[in-house]
Amino acid sequence: MILQMRILSGKETAESIKKELEAEVLARIAAGKSRPHLAAILLGDDGASQTYVNAKVKACEHVGFLSTLVRMDSDTCEEELLEKVNELNNNPAIHGFIVQLPLPDHINEQHIIEAISPEKDVDGFHPINVGRMVLGLPCFLPATPYGILELLQRNQIATEGKHCVVIGRSHIVGSPMSILLARNSSPGNCTVTLAHSRTKNLKELTLQADIIIAAVGRPRFITADMVKEGAIIIDVGIHRIADASRKSGYRLIGDVDFDQVSAKVGAISPVPGGVGPMTIVALLKNTLQAAG
Ligand code: NAP
Repeated sequence: MILQMRILSGKETAESIKKELEAEVLARIAAGKSRPHLAAILLGDDGASQTYVNAKVKACEHVGFLSTLVRMDSDTCEEELLEKVNELNNNPAIHGFIVQLPLPDHINEQHIIEAISPEKDVDGFHPINVGRMVLGLPCFLPATPYGILELLQRNQIATEGKHCVVIGRSHIVGSPMSILLARNSSPGNCTVTLAHSRTKNLKELTLQADIIIAAVGRPRFITADMVKEGAIIIDVGIHRIADASRKSGYRLIGDVDFDQVSAKVGAISPVPGGVGPMTIVALLKNTLQAAG
């Protein structure tokens, strides 16, 4: 039997979600409500962070949200940043906001995350939102895992009873992903294995996986010999590698060796055009929820 491999296009899925959001904004305005308003704080001029923030701002405009980009110097001290966070917490015109991570080393990220009002924490990183997620209570889900759930659901990928191996246990991707896929909901009801750098015999585990979520942060880490035929592969990784043929001088690749792995699996999300655009629309969905 020849397996038909599917590309799980986050780009296309995100476009259809943006159309829904656009319609919801128009309906809000017709009902006399305000446009959802997202703010983003960006410290410094790191190229990747600027690209991510710009993409978020552009996506807001695309669906009719308002957006505010707050730029601060990379040498901004923690107190100044906390003041700005507090200002946004108290600004009724801003429905939700994010502080683009990573922050410079002299700032304690956890202090900043905990200073954001949980009602405006559209990244879903505040301990209150994390706790509510674990308990299955209404909350803001962290954008990347939320986007992956939407990608699976809208592409009719069955998860119930499947063995899912999540590789990576970060607070923003791997850990919440493992919790969400193990929940008694749809998508969910997976049997989840959460792997990390101390995991022994990773290949033995991944070869048993129906679904692999690769959030390792290592380029082309998942190779064809690590996946079983017909598996579903979600590639979260984003890496810039030099490419002289591009105007930018680089191109993006993921944690999965796409060319080798895609020949063997049932479905795979590409990089770029996979999890990245889904993360952005998940953030927009959270902002709409914050606007009430
Ligand atoms: P992270 O905080 O660096 O976490 C990486 C995880 O991978 C850690 O839990 C680490 O284990 C584990 N790991 C590292 N080497 C391993 C190995 N050899 N075997 C098994 N596990 C290993 O990264 P992150 O923030 O979760 O991000 C992961 C990737 O996704 C990055 O490339 C990032 O740029 C990308 N990303 C993409 C999006 C998007 O929207 N597409 C969003 C967020 C992140 P330990 O815990 O033991 O160190």
